[in-house]
Amino acid sequence: MVAMPRLAYSNDLESSNSEPSSVKAAAKAAPKVALVADLPLFEQAKQGLGGWLDASKVVLARIDLNIPLASHSSEQKLAATAEPLSLARIDAVIPLIEQVSPYPLLLCSHLGRPLGEPRDELSLRRLLPHLERRWQRKVIFLGDSQKSGALDEATLVQLNAARLGQVAPEKAPIGLFENLRFHKGEEQDSLEFAANLAAKADLFVNDAFSVCHRAHASTSAITTLLPSYVGCSLRDELASLLPLLAFGGQKAIAILGGAKVSTKIKLLRSLMKHCSALVLGGNMANCMLAVRGRLGGNNLGSNNLGSRVGNKDLAGSFAQRELEVARELDAYAECQKDCEIILPCDAALAPENLGADGSYDASLAPEVVEVEKASRALWDIGPQSCRSIERLLEKTAEQQAGTRVIVNGPLGVFERPPYDASTLRLLRFLAKMTKQGKQQARHGNLRSICGGGDTVAALERAGVAEDFTHISLGGGAFLELLTEAELPALRALRICKERMREVETAR
Ligand code: ADP
Ligand code: MG
Repeated sequence: MVAMPRLAYSNDLESSNSEPSSVKAAAKAAPKVALVADLPLFEQAKQGLGGWLDASKVVLARIDLNIPLASHSSEQKLAATAEPLSLARIDAVIPLIEQVSPYPLLLCSHLGRPLGEPRDELSLRRLLPHLERRWQRKVIFLGDSQKSGALDEATLVQLNAARLGQVAPEKAPIGLFENLRFHKGEEQDSLEFAANLAAKADLFVNDAFSVCHRAHASTSAITTLLPSYVGCSLRDELASLLPLLAFGGQKAIAILGGAKVSTKIKLLRSLMKHCSALVLGGNMANCMLAVRGRLGGNNLGSNNLGSRVGNKDLAGSFAQRELEVARELDAYAECQKDCEIILPCDAALAPENLGADGSYDASLAPEVVEVEKASRALWDIGPQSCRSIERLLEKTAEQQAGTRVIVNGPLGVFERPPYDASTLRLLRFLAKMTKQGKQQARHGNLRSICGGGDTVAALERAGVAEDFTHISLGGGAFLELLTEAELPALRALRICKERMREVETAR
């Protein structure tokens, strides 16, 4: 059993010995959505409102370095060659680094889905050159947070250099732990795992919106161990997103693609309440087409989609479980008169001569067919489908001023041109509509809200990121916020604030 960290702010937390049950119990009485004002903001703590920060404090922050990496044909190749497809998540940490300065900062994040096992190609160590270049700081790789030597006293002294006046605050090194998901305890919301992570820290800052829909050790259990706060990027994300997502009866259009069928398709049902249309692309559409029996040759998509793309996320993506959820959604959609599910009518097929190692000739135009005639995996939606989506967007924007269009997930295997065609085309179309809407030229004040790691990478490739109304770095979290449930990590932070207030009052 690991030693518990010092519970610096509350005696009542001693009782939370094996389970963060206090979070769970208090959650029962929870309001549906945590408002920014209900959350403990780090900026207030730093001003000394709580009195927690003093010269000796060490800050542990959960950030999001789950960077989309160029997908290669095999995981061995990924280890050697994959480059970040987008630096947006790395850059998003800069305000937090400035906010925490000059206090010593320990960062933690996950990368990919190692499912509780260390995997070299998903080590955060690989990101160090990118981090140091973008942040203009030395990053000390602390290694595995669960190993006793992960953060020794000598390293702590180095991290404290700015506090001790040895270097200018903007030059102080930053610590980074290894991929949290190399341990099962992270996804199991294990208190013991969180305790090791918290061992050398005095307070915790969550600045990772994209994992707020997860009750993991680094987002939930940890808040029962350390005074916990919301960082500036998370605050900004919520402050911009919450008003945009207050629908007040007005219907939106959601365009959803991507790969995480299992996690995302479940959310569609609640999304339908707020949408006049759910436009599906990517693997999400393939899954729905499969349950409707519209894929050629009774092809259920099946696992070979995953292995051919060389993306772990896709492997087994049409498991029985997903097809069942998709079937339920389909049955539900049948009775919903107010929201239509729109599926592609044509598609670009995976290359005919796809090598066993995933290689293909990118200079060849993909074969485009009606989805019913598909003989191979569907890697992108086709031009006909794009045209009907564009028409739908124009028509809705004309009929309803202030239409909101929500986008999550690429519509095709965008990492592998030319299978990025429909994703880039629709993102550019939407950017143009938003711009025209802002200038009151057409499309009365259309608002485009886009989120997801890969989606943002696609947006950057399309060169239109500036024109969107809001870009969220969260994918699943962004979709879950739309369902109006209180995100587990925000709930944990809100409860932590209530407890800190009680302790303060009792003093
Ligand atoms: P985000 O990160 O924006 O939330 P996801 O992670 O859900 O998006 O999905 C992105 C992944 O979806 C990409 O790796 C892309 O290749 C994959 N994808 C999109 N369309 C398809 C498709 N038709 N078949 C297989 N994979 C797809
Ligand atoms: Mg992704």
